[in-house]
Amino acid sequence: MSTVLQAYRYALDPTPAQLVALGRHAGAARFAFNWGLARVKAAMDQRAAEVTYGVPEAERTPVPWTMPTLRRQWNDAKGEVASWWPECSSKETYSAGLDQLACGLKAFSDSRKGRRKGRRVGFPRFKKRGKARDSFRYTTGAYGPDGDRHVKLPRIGRVKVHEPMGALTGRLDAGTARLRGATVSRTAGRWFVSFTVQVARDLPDAPSRRQRKGGTVGVDLGVRCLAVLSTGERVPNPKHLDAALGRLRRASRAYARSKPGSVGRRKRAAWLARIHARVAGRRRDGLHKLTTRLATSHDVVVVEDLHVAGMVRNRRLARGVSDTGMAEVRRQLTYKTTWYGSRLIVADRWYPSSKTCSGCGWRNPSLTLSDRTFVCQDCALVIDRDYNASLNLRRLATGTGVAGDPGAYAPNARGADRKTPPAGRVAVKREPRTARAGKTGTAARRQAAAELMIAHDH
Ligand SMILES: [Zn+2]
Repeated sequence: MSTVLQAYRYALDPTPAQLVALGRHAGAARFAFNWGLARVKAAMDQRAAEVTYGVPEAERTPVPWTMPTLRRQWNDAKGEVASWWPECSSKETYSAGLDQLACGLKAFSDSRKGRRKGRRVGFPRFKKRGKARDSFRYTTGAYGPDGDRHVKLPRIGRVKVHEPMGALTGRLDAGTARLRGATVSRTAGRWFVSFTVQVARDLPDAPSRRQRKGGTVGVDLGVRCLAVLSTGERVPNPKHLDAALGRLRRASRAYARSKPGSVGRRKRAAWLARIHARVAGRRRDGLHKLTTRLATSHDVVVVEDLHVAGMVRNRRLARGVSDTGMAEVRRQLTYKTTWYGSRLIVADRWYPSSKTCSGCGWRNPSLTLSDRTFVCQDCALVIDRDYNASLNLRRLATGTGVAGDPGAYAPNARGADRKTPPAGRVAVKREPRTARAGKTGTAARRQAAAELMIAHDH
């Protein structure tokens, strides 16, 4: 038995009075955030002046950069700065704001020092009412599900939720899950609560009979459809997504035409945000269904390591790519394969899965994105481009060599995975949050799972 962190997210259905209270709590968190940021900036200015005037290092003004110092300064000052503070949920709400600030400051300094991966993180900015995302967090006190259809939120009350929380309450009642915190936030005018839960899960050591029977599957994540599998199946985009996208196009056109600063523009912005939220929800549901199915019915899942950031910059592809959420698919597969005892292999970014013939290994370096069919000039195979790619990805793991170009495929990915470090351009890549390719043992998997924080379990 091992524990993993999981998140359960539910839409709230508050009464008008609760709605006001929710807004006030978010306002309090924002207030503390801005107050702390002003303090930090003032201290930084003061320090810069001290440097100019040659004040020795030890005597310079300290900058309240971390949560403990921010909290101490807040406790000293709160009497004057927030006379209305007892109205809101004790000190929790304010702490949440200060905590957001401390995280933002840390992300900024880590990013500057090269200790943080990904895009550069800028210095925190003041949160404007109506612009910044409204949210606050509980980590102590009597918060949590209250029955199947309500949540208890301190100082706000018993708030109804839109869908039954059976999946969560069942685990809590059985004692296999423990609440670690709750974040309340507003998206497109709707309030949500997201519970962080520590769940005891029996992580299987080996694939089940069903997964072994399913064997290895290559998955080519697509733009036109969600995915093409090496079994030949084309997984379509989630139902109604296309219709929602049509509405999204209309809504954004209407918004663009409206006059800046007008009431109409504000209404259209809210409409646009609602549709955006709905599209995101549908997409997430579709992806969760796909990844659960892949992880439970195959023992090895092979996906491509797409250069997602690079692709999203390409304007024409942007919508399709972000819609199918390839990065999201991989993130979900990473933890679900851990949960269900299967294994995820991510092909090297430079592995030419689309440009290689799945029949003989011949390469077509001039294949472009618009070529929907792969035509082999060596063995005369004519095959759908995406299906061809999925077959190549599958072959990467099964390691069946190909006449003509045996070097194009890993010798035997399963063996390689356990014994030898990955080498060459066809490598089993290490995911930042997966077990390292070389050690897929239970311990490594459990550790990876414990580090995982996921959104919206299905
Ligand atoms: Zn061929």
